[in-house]
Amino acid sequence: MLKISKDQVVYSMSPTNKPVLKVDPGSSVEFETCDAFGGQITSPTDKFDTLDWNRINPATGPLYINGAEPGDILSVKIEKIEIAKQGAVVTGKDMGVLGHLLKENSIKIIPIENETALFSENIHLPINKMIGVIGVAPEKEAISCGVPDLHGGNMDCKEIKEGVTLLLPVNVPGGLLALGDLHAVMADGEIGVSGLEVSGKVTVTVDIIKGKKLPLPMIFSENHIMTLASHEDLDQAVDMAVINMVSYLTHEEDLKTDEATMLISLGADVRICQVVDPKKTVRVELPKQYTGK
Ligand code: CA
Repeated sequence: MLKISKDQVVYSMSPTNKPVLKVDPGSSVEFETCDAFGGQITSPTDKFDTLDWNRINPATGPLYINGAEPGDILSVKIEKIEIAKQGAVVTGKDMGVLGHLLKENSIKIIPIENETALFSENIHLPINKMIGVIGVAPEKEAISCGVPDLHGGNMDCKEIKEGVTLLLPVNVPGGLLALGDLHAVMADGEIGVSGLEVSGKVTVTVDIIKGKKLPLPMIFSENHIMTLASHEDLDQAVDMAVINMVSYLTHEEDLKTDEATMLISLGADVRICQVVDPKKTVRVELPKQYTGK
């Protein structure tokens, strides 16, 4: 198995990042990942004040996929996600939805046993392992790993999990795929500013799709087709994700715009991935049974 260690991290997705590994399409690669804090929080008594903010949101990579050219689509099948035995969740002043009401910063270290996050003695949550940050290099400027956009990035979408295929645009030769910021468990919204942040390993299989236009990023799961969009304004993120699904249905399923709109209105859920990053992320989930797929 080809591997990239967690020593090989970037803090922005950038066309100038040097690839740490080059592979052919069809290859499987294991990415070892740091948690979103770069491993700086290991105890409830750790203080935000002493955090090195230059080490927040590291993504492992980037991976160069041979033959990937601008205009292609990069297909990333998430084969396996392995996570550490404990994680950290944080919230506090000026963070997340309640940041204006919270006066202090709080850290909770949560053990993970038997696929369960032990939040407290009485509250146990089943884990839903997911990738918070996954993306490719934008065409020109560098984008911080903390920001989601058309290139992917910090989408914090709980559907980016084992078994799904994420489609991303190729903007520069090789694509330059990087990922990190695993969550052991997170709910839609991520309202407190963090999921249960963990280190771990992700195995993906990468491929290239040539000669096709799709409204990216998109997720294909066993039962759903999903469009994703991010914007500073949540209303606009909703519009963009819906328009992307309309575009998909009119081009791939041969529906007219009004029919596609009706089908989404009846059959597709509009869901919020997160509302706490510099851009908010929305997804539209259409069951595959309503399509020809
Ligand atoms: Ca995140």
